[in-house]
Parts: sequence; C-alpha cells; structure tokens
Amino acid sequence: MEINWSDRINELPPYLFAEIDAKKAEVMAKGIDVIDLGVGDPDIPTPNFIIEALNKAARDPSNHVYPSYAGMLSFKQAVADWYKKRFNVDLEAESEVVTLIGSKEGIAHTPLAFINPGDIALVTDPGYPVYNVAITFAGGVPYSIPILKENNFLPDFDTVPEEILKRSKLLFINYPNNPTTAVADEDFYKRVIEFAEKNQIIVCHDAAYTEIAYDGYKPLSFLEIDGAKEVGIEFHSLSKTFSMTGWRIGFAAGNKKAIAGLGKIKTNIDSGVFQAVQVAGIEALYNYTEGLADRVNIYKERRDIFCRGLDDIGISYLHPKATFYVWFETINGLSSKDFASKMLDEAGIVATPGNGFGEYGEGYMRVSTTFENSKIEEAVQRLKTLKL
Ligand code: PLP
Repeated sequence: MEINWSDRINELPPYLFAEIDAKKAEVMAKGIDVIDLGVGDPDIPTPNFIIEALNKAARDPSNHVYPSYAGMLSFKQAVADWYKKRFNVDLEAESEVVTLIGSKEGIAHTPLAFINPGDIALVTDPGYPVYNVAITFAGGVPYSIPILKENNFLPDFDTVPEEILKRSKLLFINYPNNPTTAVADEDFYKRVIEFAEKNQIIVCHDAAYTEIAYDGYKPLSFLEIDGAKEVGIEFHSLSKTFSMTGWRIGFAAGNKKAIAGLGKIKTNIDSGVFQAVQVAGIEALYNYTEGLADRVNIYKERRDIFCRGLDDIGISYLHPKATFYVWFETINGLSSKDFASKMLDEAGIVATPGNGFGEYGEGYMRVSTTFENSKIEEAVQRLKTLKL
C-alpha cells in the first residue's frame, strides 16, 4: 500500500533547522570543526533546587496518574502569584491560567480554538515559525505584517488592508522578540489593544523571553496594560527562564473565554503535564529570582563578546536588550542564505539565515548565545577571517 501524506503536511515549508543540519553535516564530513550557534537552547543546566523538587515529586505515587487536563490548581496558583509579584497582574488561577506542555504546544493548538477555515490570522514577519504552521493546520490563512528595522522591529498595523482586517480573527505578537531581539513598550501594547478592540481580533502575545533581559531592562507583560485581558492571552514558558527546555512546561494566561477555548482543545488532544514536573515548576516560580541574575549575566557576557566582534568587523546589528540571540545584517548585500553558506564554508560557523523566519528576515542572520564564552570567542575570531 502506498502511504500518502496529507496536503497539510506536503505543503509545509522544510523545517528550518533540518536544512541547516544537512549542510553542517556536509562541512563536517570535510573534517572542518564546526561551531554551531544556530539553535537557542540553554546550555546552562536547570537549577538544582528544581531538580530536587522533581526528584521528590516523582517518588510520590499520587503524581503517577493522569494529571488534570487544564493543569494542577496549585501550579496555576503559582503562575498567578508569579504574575502578581513580577508584573503586578491579577489572575484568577482556576479560570485565567492553563498549563501547557511547553508554550509551543499551546501556540500550536490555539488557532484550532479560534479560527474557522478561511479565517485570517496576523503574524509578524520575521517570527517564530510555529505561528504560521499552526494557523495553516487549523485551516486558516496567515497574513504577515513586516517588522522592519526602521520601525524598531514593531508591526505597523496601519499597513494591513481593510479587507484583510475584516477576515482576521487572531494576532500573534512576540516581545522580547525571537529572532530580532526587539522589545516593546507600554505605548506599543496600548496600540495593540486599540487595534484588537477596533477590529475584534484576539491577541496572542508570546512572552517566552521576558526574563532574559540585560542592563537593568525589565520587559513588560502584555497583561500589565489596561484592557489586555479583554482582548487576549499571553503565552509563557519555564524553558528559557529556568533552563527547562527539555521539561516541557509552560502556560497561557489572560482572557477567561480564550483560556477556556484553548483548554477545550487540549482536553480533546492531550492529557496535561506530568504532575511531578508541575510540582517542580511551582518550586521554580516561587523562587524565580534564585540564580536568575547569574544565568542572565552569563548570556550578557556572551552577547558582549559577540557584539564586540561584530563592531570590530563593521557588521550592523540590533544591540540586544533581551533574549539570548543576536540579530545582525549580512554584508555586501549578500542574501541570508549566501551569507550563511559563506560563514559555514569559510569559517565553519553555523548561524540561522534570517529568511528562515519569514521573507522580511532576508538580509539578516541570527546567532544564539547559548554556548560557552570560548566558543563564542572562537566564532568571533573566525568571523574576522571571512573574505569580505
Ligand atoms: N516562543 C518563542 C518565541 C520561542 O523562541 C520558543 C522556543 O524557542 C517558544 C515559544 C517555545 O518554547 P517552549 O515550547 O519550550 O515553551
């Protein structure tokens, strides 16, 4: 029998990192020692106190059963208490928070709750690729709003045509932003809320990087802004804040009806997060400052090493106020793809081509600083040898 994939799978763009991995393998086969600064996955281990909490909770048989679909109330309460302490936002744990198997899972399922076939969902471009895929899987049509250097990598909603707005049901935004590292202020979020209310569009703010910020800068939560809860939800994750990417735990918070909609989808698809992981998550959230400044400082040192290197070479970039990425421009007008190949072939460095995050990422590259200082330093030395 011939196995045929669905159109939805056949029409997927190639997974960004799969293509890069293939190219990397080719270069490594030539005996070149490759430095891979592509993927943003913290190299700093999860703090011990969180591992200890998991250890203890994993031994308790009451945690071995199916968890509740929407998450343990005690975890959701820890989320609500964290939001109060960190952002001064009031959340009702039971109805305004849902536990996710990492924020990617929640993001991927969200369009199923709010999009009918043919509906449009707005996304910022360049952006985290999961938004587009999730919209398409739900039968929706993604519409890209460019985020450009001249607008500080924030979307200009006035550019969206009226006929698109009429069919738009959802908007995905993400600040601090992956891949551009751009940040958003209160004025921007006020504009988002006004735009959402006027056009009846549900806002999904992806806030995965609010805790990785530098030089005294403290990113806002979208939910801090008056009216945010009327129009949307915010996704958050323990992945970056606590170096817990492999643990798969995150959450969404905000508008009750929207949280209930996402919860309904999840109830029918998954069975929640292992309770012992939620118990460890509770411990993490109630002690969130423990070691956080040290972890952030490690990323900051690496950011500084890499950015100093870019300065020396004369490459332009957005000085990152947050996230563990650096978003820089290619040189001599090279395309992202050609510059990525040049970096790999001439210097043995893997960086992610900006156009992999959308067409408006063309002409940019992203590196991640989730690698040891010595690796970043070596990468900088090699970059200086590129034939420009
Ligand atoms: N959102 C953004 C912008 C990300 O960069 C990532 C991961 O890289 C995620 C969400 C997903 O994180 P997780 O599923 O680990 O919570």
